[in-house]
Amino acid sequence: AAKEQGRNRYHYFTPSMQEYAKYRMLLIRDLRKAIIRKEFEIYYQPIIELTDSKVFKAEALIRWHHPVRGVVSPGEFIPVAEETGLIIEIGNWVFEQAAKQSAMWRERFGVAIQISINKSPIQFRDEGESFVDWIEQLKKLNLESNGICVEITEGLLLDASMGVSEKLLAYRDAGVQVSLDDFGTGYSSLAYLKKFDIDYLKIDQSFTRNLETDSNDVTLCEAIIVMAHKLGMKVIAEGVETEYQKKILFEAGCDYGQGYLFSKPIPVADFEAKYLIGLTELPNEKGSPSQ
Ligand code: C2E
Ligand code: MG
Ligand code: MG
Ligand code: MG
Repeated sequence: AAKEQGRNRYHYFTPSMQEYAKYRMLLIRDLRKAIIRKEFEIYYQPIIELTDSKVFKAEALIRWHHPVRGVVSPGEFIPVAEETGLIIEIGNWVFEQAAKQSAMWRERFGVAIQISINKSPIQFRDEGESFVDWIEQLKKLNLESNGICVEITEGLLLDASMGVSEKLLAYRDAGVQVSLDDFGTGYSSLAYLKKFDIDYLKIDQSFTRNLETDSNDVTLCEAIIVMAHKLGMKVIAEGVETEYQKKILFEAGCDYGQGYLFSKPIPVADFEAKYLIGLTELPNEKGSPSQ
């Protein structure tokens, strides 16, 4: 929506429009180079189990190390990647990295940490042939224990033309779980929730943000959680930044939390150090450390 607003703004101010066109052109040029030069990195943000504060899974969030500008956020370049079709190549790379990472963590640390990847509607629609390769690759990696989760947004479920049902079924066959990202911000898709087999519902951070001050948001979160559970979904709250928000969500029955309170998205080495390395010292693997 911010993207839309930004674009509309430029419609009214002609000089800015020219500037925007130039900026966009350079961004596209750099983005093409970035793919060749491998300037992308995946950061991982833990998704935490609210009952015991343990890491449950991780979301893969792409970062672009631009040679001149430094880190460019996905909010800036993903929309352009979508418009130009470059998102397909970038998305395939993200998927490949995430799938390898999940398999590697299982090998090195003996834990099944599922990794969630984001898939934009355009990616979902246009992945075409690569979608088949995608599923084949997954089968080769033997990620039978639900190693990958795909995050999609509500709008996708409203579009009957994309063969959404078939694709989601193929995901399930390949052992891929599905999350509904940014729930509550798109078109109301309540009628569609029952039609599709979705594993996780992610409450958008715009609802989490004001839990302290806005009792309406508390009510909405509570209602979303009850509804999701009754439809057989687990609930992840996005953008959890304070203990108080966590407490309200936990008391409302929310299953998992994600946000700066627990950790920002971090590079893979940091994620391993913070959440996984201790796991190799489990008593049954190295003898009891307390003796
Ligand atoms: P998203 O999937 O909803 O991801 C959550 C965003 O919220 C991330 O922003 C994350 O850094 C941020 N966040 C997490 N916890 C907090 C918090 O406590 N407070 C606040 N204020 N923010 C928090 P990020 O990494 O900048 O990504 C933005 C969006 O870009 C993502 O939203 C997702 O839609 C898209 N994106 C990121 N990586 C990929 C990708 O590999 N492929 C595609 N298609 N989209 C991606
Ligand atoms: Mg997401
Ligand atoms: Mg989200
Ligand atoms: Mg978002």
